[in-house]
Amino acid sequence: MIPKRTFDAVIIGGGGAGLRAALQMAQADLKVAVISKVFPTRSHTVSAQGGITAALGNVSDDDWHWHMYDTVKGSDYLGDQDAIEFMCRNAPTAVYELEHMGLPFSRLDNGKIYQRPFGGQSQNFGGEQAVRTCAAADRTGHALLHTLYQRNIAARTQFFEEFFALDLIRDEEGYVLGVSALEIETGQPWLFEARVTLLATGGGARIFRHSTNAHINSGDGLGMILRAGLPLEDMEFWQFHPTGIPEIGSLITEGVRGEGGYLLNKDNERFMLRYAPNAHDLASRDVVSRAIAQEILAGRGCGPHGDFVYLKIDHIGADKIKSRLPGIRELSMQFAGVDPCEAPIPVTPTAHYMMGGIPTNLHAQVVTPERYGPEEAVPGLYAVGECACVSVHGANRLGGNSLLDLVVFGRAAGNHAIEYLRENTIPRPLPADASDLATGRLARWDKAKGNERVPKLRAEMQRILQEHCGVYRREDLLKEGIEKLGQVEARLQDAVIEDRSKMFNTARLEALELENLLPIARATLVSALARTESRGAHSREDYPKRDDDQWLRHTLYSRENDQLDYKPVRLKPLTVETFQPKERTY
Ligand SMILES: Cc1cc2nc3c(=O)[nH]c(=O)nc-3n(C[C@H](O)[C@H](O)[C@H](O)COP(=O)(O)OP(=O)(O)OC[C@H]3O[C@@H](n4cnc5c(N)ncnc54)[C@H](O)[C@@H]3O)c2cc1C
Repeated sequence: MIPKRTFDAVIIGGGGAGLRAALQMAQADLKVAVISKVFPTRSHTVSAQGGITAALGNVSDDDWHWHMYDTVKGSDYLGDQDAIEFMCRNAPTAVYELEHMGLPFSRLDNGKIYQRPFGGQSQNFGGEQAVRTCAAADRTGHALLHTLYQRNIAARTQFFEEFFALDLIRDEEGYVLGVSALEIETGQPWLFEARVTLLATGGGARIFRHSTNAHINSGDGLGMILRAGLPLEDMEFWQFHPTGIPEIGSLITEGVRGEGGYLLNKDNERFMLRYAPNAHDLASRDVVSRAIAQEILAGRGCGPHGDFVYLKIDHIGADKIKSRLPGIRELSMQFAGVDPCEAPIPVTPTAHYMMGGIPTNLHAQVVTPERYGPEEAVPGLYAVGECACVSVHGANRLGGNSLLDLVVFGRAAGNHAIEYLRENTIPRPLPADASDLATGRLARWDKAKGNERVPKLRAEMQRILQEHCGVYRREDLLKEGIEKLGQVEARLQDAVIEDRSKMFNTARLEALELENLLPIARATLVSALARTESRGAHSREDYPKRDDDQWLRHTLYSRENDQLDYKPVRLKPLTVETFQPKERTY
């Protein structure tokens, strides 16, 4: 057996979700380890720009019930309404808590937290635009992550940075007892034994070729779940953000449209007035992305290839741009060669966010599918953040709701885990084969022979997903995508890593990441093929209508034989009345 370290709780991921959960437990004097493959403050949370949504009512009248309504509608009624109520009701407290921890929010003249309008936000259940997203300029995620990191240092959370988690350790009765991980600098494998294991590994939008996500967002937690024989929920739902910089993928925050920016086609037309007569450029993201895709298809795209549209913001004035959107100006100048104070920014829909993920309950416990009887929690295992699917975002996430999801459910997970640890004081023995899966995978790559290369296979997978499972989907395209992906999977058997050095084994990490990305790509294609309707971010050309009779349910994908199970959407909230599904217009 490989060497072992023991903690009360091990948290995999040092982004906003992992750090919020870790803080809750460390402040309860538990022995908490955070494992992160990059230095924690480099996690993708750092690049969140626009903000975190909570009905504080600092700028417009507001109410958490309205936030809840908008989130349910934004989710195209696929979100679970008990979870959405829990999140929206707790949002103001979660934001004040961050403020008291020292998060440097931008301020209004009266000293209150600055808020900006974001897509899909309304007052009075579908009325006037609400102003609900709390921001620290356009670097909210940066401020949030650094605040939480400092608080964890003060609470004596132990950090294992540049450790790559490999696989969950599960005993015969199904208890999760920790994780195996590779120390990147030395190549040494370790076991982290703990009574609580929490996955907070972030998103996986790197299955697509054009993505706003960091290269590290390879959905590792999802790969671990599938290898542990557990399912993934709603993997057909990926959000394409309307405004990424073409080819490069860098995100131009929705906050630009919140501050008054709007989209133009090659005829200089504000086309969103046509697609969303009320909300215009601040319609929900799926709606805006489809509108852009249609403009491009109709030959009204800009540039020599007609493959993007323009986002105009110079009319709000250089001073406002420099104070409210300094980071965006920098990004735009560096990656699009455009100063938004003077000219419009070229933008195109870009893969951005994973609505699906590891199925959890309101306490962030990972749950098994109903096929095994009533939904049951996997003892000792939690998931929080973008890797989890609780599901508050349903078929389409509203901007600013992800940072909120991280802190609300991070805290809830921490609280539940504290109770679980009180009730489960005696560590269960590790199974004899605890490290086998991990050492087997490492040995396979060390001994690999063949002619295929990992970066090439990854690029092919990304192209397949981009072409066969983009903003619009169709049965023949999806089937062909699954077939092509199968070929890439088969070629993985003949892949070798180029750099066999054990000291600086980044090439080995890329191979291990591809072993996580490929099954996520498959889960996405298979789930997208099964869902014969259009809902939220999942748009089927061949099934353009939403079908509530058949599809008001979540998809559960298991790796064995690509099996699909389903579970109904939880329409009943905790204390208020259900928002009944109705047609969704903006
Ligand atoms: C460019 C951009 C802008 C965004 N802007 C906003 C916004 O304004 N508002 C909003 O609400 N949402 C926004 N989002 C979405 C939101 O930022 C993310 O969903 C959220 O930050 C994810 O947080 P997380 O803690 O779940 O994961 P991450 O922050 O991605 O962290 C994942 C962690 O897991 C670790 N990890 C992963 N795999 C392994 C492994 N195998 N071993 C060890 N460690 C591992 C990583 O090192 C990292 O620490 C944005 C997203 C992007 C990409």
